[in-house]
Amino acid sequence: SPLPDYLTEVLDACTDGSGTLADYIPELANVDPDRFALSLVTAEGTTYSAGDDNHVFTIQSISKPFVYGLALEKRGFEAVLGKIDVEPSGEAFNEISLERDSGRPLNPMINAGALTAHALVADADSPGTAIEEIRALLSALAGRELDIDEKVAASEMQTTYRNVAIANLLRGYEIFCDDPDEVVAGYVRQCSVDVTTTDLAMMAGTLASGGIQPRTGVQIFSRPVVRQVLSVMATCGMYDAAGDWLSTIGIPAKSGVSGGLIGVLPGQLGIAAYSPRLDEHGTSVQGVAAFERLSRDMNLHLMDAP
Ligand code: GLU
Repeated sequence: SPLPDYLTEVLDACTDGSGTLADYIPELANVDPDRFALSLVTAEGTTYSAGDDNHVFTIQSISKPFVYGLALEKRGFEAVLGKIDVEPSGEAFNEISLERDSGRPLNPMINAGALTAHALVADADSPGTAIEEIRALLSALAGRELDIDEKVAASEMQTTYRNVAIANLLRGYEIFCDDPDEVVAGYVRQCSVDVTTTDLAMMAGTLASGGIQPRTGVQIFSRPVVRQVLSVMATCGMYDAAGDWLSTIGIPAKSGVSGGLIGVLPGQLGIAAYSPRLDEHGTSVQGVAAFERLSRDMNLHLMDAP
């Protein structure tokens, strides 16, 4: 297949060295800034990769759509929608975007909504086990056992005052009744699960194939949950750049501050990129460039007639 050569060519064309490493989590500033990888998984489970596709990095906010999906599977649509809305906030990932009177987070992709989704996964009688359930979910999506990078988690815990504040506000509004510190600790470990672009492409590929992991064949999410997750990714996944992203690239997507980026083309492809230098929205500069190229070259924009 000529695809791997094409992917290598995309990486070369999109290498420009601009952007800056996330440094609000101290450990994220210690990574090699020049790593660059791109992986594709078809809905049938064929994988194509180029660049540093074995390089491991923390999943960060790319965990959010999957944990939201898990909350929907466990608690049902009504319970989850009652706690987390699905309106784009047009704001940054760590914005305190809560509905005025109820305190309900605007969507599950910003931190307020993601903390709530994490708390919704937790069972009242054993709140501390949510992280283990989430790690197992992400492993099933990747099709291999994933670990938590405890060093990155500990590093983020040193500086995560803002998430602690948001969690306390949510507790104050009774959006959840768990201990806010425990929710933050679980959420930070959720963000610290180690992945490669191949893992992320498998996770995206599971959403592309209606919730069935393309390699193992395991049904992880139901169809209605996949539709809900992808809708929220399309409208809110890229935070304050969601409109620009959807109009120019046209692929439901989710970014993370460690430099990962996934995209899902329903029925067709899961795509993942990694490059840790970020733009002002906290999204990988070279990752965006690679998605732009793929979308243009392969006519992937969802709003184009086939
Ligand atoms: N752990 C990060 C935070 O909550 C995730 C942010 C992101 O990847 O956008 O601050």
